Amino acid sequence: MRTLDQLEARKKTVLVRVDYNVPIKEGVVGDDTRVRASLPTIKELLEKGAKVVLMSHLGRPKGVDPAFSLLPVAEVLADLLQKPVKFVTGLPSSDEALADVRAADYGEVLLLENVRFEPGEKKNDPELAAKYARLAEVFVLDAFGSAHREHASVVGVARLLPSYAGRLMEKEVKALGKLLHGPETPYWVVLGGAKVSDKIGVIKSLLPKVDGMLIGGAMAFTFIKAIGGQTGNSLVEDDKVELAAGLLEEARSLGKQLLLPSDVVAAREISSEAETKVFPAFGIPEGWMGLDIGPESRKTFSEALAPARTVFWNGPMGVFETPPFDAGTLAVAETLAGLDAYTVVGGGDSVAAVKRLGYADKFSHVSTGGGASLEFLEKGTLPGIEVLGGLSPEEV
Ligand code: ADP
Ligand code: MG
Repeated sequence: MRTLDQLEARKKTVLVRVDYNVPIKEGVVGDDTRVRASLPTIKELLEKGAKVVLMSHLGRPKGVDPAFSLLPVAEVLADLLQKPVKFVTGLPSSDEALADVRAADYGEVLLLENVRFEPGEKKNDPELAAKYARLAEVFVLDAFGSAHREHASVVGVARLLPSYAGRLMEKEVKALGKLLHGPETPYWVVLGGAKVSDKIGVIKSLLPKVDGMLIGGAMAFTFIKAIGGQTGNSLVEDDKVELAAGLLEEARSLGKQLLLPSDVVAAREISSEAETKVFPAFGIPEGWMGLDIGPESRKTFSEALAPARTVFWNGPMGVFETPPFDAGTLAVAETLAGLDAYTVVGGGDSVAAVKRLGYADKFSHVSTGGGASLEFLEKGTLPGIEVLGGLSPEEV
């Protein structure tokens, strides 16, 4: 990938695609991690003497909707940079936006409005990409969390301007690349979360590289059903049961361990007040839902991970949002935090869990990209990487 090392940014207008898809409630930004993660690139470009024009998506608005405006992010960014940030209220493709950008000086920072207010954004409309491109002389892609999207503000505009990877993009690709190329062994992967279907690709591609995989969360029940277990009212993807059986068979033929929970904490409803019972994971009675891995599984999982030298974790072990069903996720976070190993956590909910439980700084790398990190691990590259020149052997 071309990086900022190759960019002579002095007196250039640089359009930077960042990932400011942050949680906003009633105009207030919740977690500002993604804004902080963009600072190294912005500061470097300012030091080099560029005019910095930032663009991002936020949420999934249907057309222009003030609830999805990036304005609150401009305020957070200005605080973090300790510098004014000009918020451009016109649509990014508008002539007003172009005029605002032209009127700004080098050394200034502007933030454009939500690119998903533009109907052509997700369709990668070439006319829209051209409207973005006319705003600047150079494009920097720093939105790792969006680098798997073939959208106009990601790949469309990159094809029209000289384009470079920002520092966050570089850091993510290096950190995740270590999970694909020569990871230290034993190498374990911990998967959980809601659906098997989200993670099939990554299971298939990582299985040959790892020593073993631990499967928790709701996705474990599809596997449990595949081996004839009774899952009660737990979340099962019935149309993926056969596929889960296939993955188990694949693991067996490769000689890899694929560990499922042996017990679960179950309840009749998802509520902190609900009565809970521990059942064998293969024998959950009707009316009961497995909502977390059980105490015996917490122990087995921790023991399996103890010798690991490399661990990738995606997906919580249970409904961590609703205690007490966060105990399994907490146990895994605690175990990984204590390992002398290269540990990476990726995935929106997993990262939120690790942060809420206070373990984020104990990981070697906390990825800012959920879907992007999984797709990168599955394919070894992303559309947003390819458009910046792809990966050279030294980069992987
Ligand atoms: P990530 O965002 O880290 O990739 P996912 O989106 O795949 O993770 O899954 C997270 C969701 O899975 C959480 O909302 C959590 O409540 C849910 N989940 C985990 N275990 C269970 C379970 N046993 N039953 C129902 N939902 C679960
Ligand atoms: Mg999620």
